[in-house]
Amino acid sequence: MSNTDASDLYRPNTGVAQSGVRVSFEFFPPRNEAMEKQLWNALSRLEPLNPEFVSVTYGAGGSTRERTHNTVSRIVQETSIAPAAHLTCVGATREEVDNVIRAYGDSGIRHIVALRGDPTDGIGSSYEPHPGGYENGADLAKGISTIGDFEISVSAYPEKHPESPNFSVDMENLRAKVDAGATRAITQFFFVNDYYYRYLDRVSAAGIDIPIIAGILPVLNFRQVSKFAGQCGAHIPPWLVDRFDGLDEEPETRRLIAAAVTAEQVLDLMANGVRDFHFYTMNQANLVFAICHLMGIRPMDNASASPAES
Ligand code: FAD
Repeated sequence: MSNTDASDLYRPNTGVAQSGVRVSFEFFPPRNEAMEKQLWNALSRLEPLNPEFVSVTYGAGGSTRERTHNTVSRIVQETSIAPAAHLTCVGATREEVDNVIRAYGDSGIRHIVALRGDPTDGIGSSYEPHPGGYENGADLAKGISTIGDFEISVSAYPEKHPESPNFSVDMENLRAKVDAGATRAITQFFFVNDYYYRYLDRVSAAGIDIPIIAGILPVLNFRQVSKFAGQCGAHIPPWLVDRFDGLDEEPETRRLIAAAVTAEQVLDLMANGVRDFHFYTMNQANLVFAICHLMGIRPMDNASASPAES
């Protein structure tokens, strides 16, 4: 028996006290004025948490080219956060993609998340690089390195990418991205932490030494997440199905369960030494803000924006 205060006995072994946790947040570009307002509310609420960076997604085939660019440019101009602009190469010529890279650079954006993108006919159909376009994420990362001095992040898949026949092909793909200049990988979301731990072991065994940031998706909409998980190869364990079972007409309970599930996941990751987290915010800040609080992250100026989520 150690000389521990009784109250300590009830505190889970989360490692929160050690803190040192770094977070980043992902947003998607808004489609209309109401969504724009929601995005900026979310950004102002999360900005005081001093994220490493915030990233803005890019529609495959360039469908959000303008909106992604406008959003990251505004983040550069109006916030203290370093933005990362996502970029995909599917369905575009090399010249079109290079122009986007140069335009990012001209707007003061120094960090790009380099991605291949899903096949133009949708997830599950076969992927064909655009004739004369970049072939995949690694090839795009190489192009970005050639054009300018950008920080390059890439994707990683704890459960392997659905198009990878096995983990060793998947690992060679990650290695190609590192050889092309990537200095960080962000994972697809996952709900079974063991998959992530095993993936880290594989990365380490392959001698790849870039940080593999855990991508965390709070389950704000279980149906939508299940559908997306099925398409991108992320396993939904039966216990997760069970937790949301019967809550179709219970939005507030669903929100509470989502918070509990995410809390459980990140606290287990922290207890296992994970210190870098990338949150897929879906442009909603409140749950992510609460999880960060639980992780020991506090607003820099001790003043958070309004708790209202619009
Ligand atoms: P890559 O890593 O280039 O390739 C994926 C797999 O395809 C490889 O593992 C391999 O199996 C196979 N492959 C690739 N090249 C070859 C080759 N030459 N020969 C044989 N097989 C090959 N999508 C968007 O549209 N917009 C976004 O903003 C976006 N952001 C994302 C952010 C993160 C953190 C993650 C994890 C994913 C994101 N995605 C985004 C989804 C991503 O575009 C899809 O998962 C897509 O299917 C693969 O893109 P990638 O860059 O991971 O592909």
